[in-house]
Amino acid sequence: MLRVEKIQKVFNNKSFSTEVLNDISLSISKGCWLSIVGPSGSGKSTLLNITSGLLKPDSGKVFFNDRNVYELNDQERSNLRRKHIGFVFQDFKLLPYYSVLDNVILPLYYDEEKNKLYERAKELLQVVGIRESLFFRLPEGLSGGEKQRVAIARALIANPEVLICDEPTGNLDWENRNQIIKLFSSLKEQGKTIVLVTHDTNMADCGDEVYQLLNGKIALIEAAV
Ligand code: ADP
Ligand code: ADP
Repeated sequence: MLRVEKIQKVFNNKSFSTEVLNDISLSISKGCWLSIVGPSGSGKSTLLNITSGLLKPDSGKVFFNDRNVYELNDQERSNLRRKHIGFVFQDFKLLPYYSVLDNVILPLYYDEEKNKLYERAKELLQVVGIRESLFFRLPEGLSGGEKQRVAIARALIANPEVLICDEPTGNLDWENRNQIIKLFSSLKEQGKTIVLVTHDTNMADCGDEVYQLLNGKIALIEAAV
């Protein structure tokens, strides 16, 4: 369902260039949970951004359901990102002047009837463990873990086929982290495809396949049984 082929990415600075990804290929089947581990700076976020249509690689291709993501026009790619791929950013990217509820419905703000969206947003917030008293707060009034869960709810609002997460448990304590792992497992049971980057090797191991990104290369370190 999701395929990246021979991805290369180099960042050019004034005085030097960094080759971050060198000939990366991955294939992710529907309903599969794929984890990527690797040290800080190894290119994990870059790979996720490329995979989700946010960052064009220097060379190589990304296919979503056999459609070449970087050959879509801007409108089509934006649609793909809003409706078919849920993305949880490492720094959440919640909009500061919108309430929790409005942040969650944001991807579909102009597409669907508001009341329906709010109903769904409330359900999702409950699923990720955000209590009702926080629904009308601005993000600045949330703890790190709460922001993270709101970001996960937002990623799920369009009922996307794929959920792509950059360090989804980075800010959570043990109990909240376990809840998120349970949530991801149940999303997977429902047929969602999950791609996540994590420092948490125990969480990575909950996936079907675990890859390691190191020195621009990717290697399978644990395969589905
Ligand atoms: P990770 O997510 O594994 O920590 P990143 O993908 O964020 O790694 O970054 C990989 C490398 O690419 C780092 O050395 C980082 O400094 C560099 N990098 C990331 N984004 C940019 C950018 N926009 N411009 C220049 N260098 C970048
Ligand atoms: P944690 O230890 O989980 O990071 P915090 O100490 O940041 O939690 O916050 C604890 C509680 O206080 C949370 O429920 C959060 O919603 C609330 N809170 C945090 N910051 C603010 C703020 N600036 N305004 C109002 N409430 C806040």
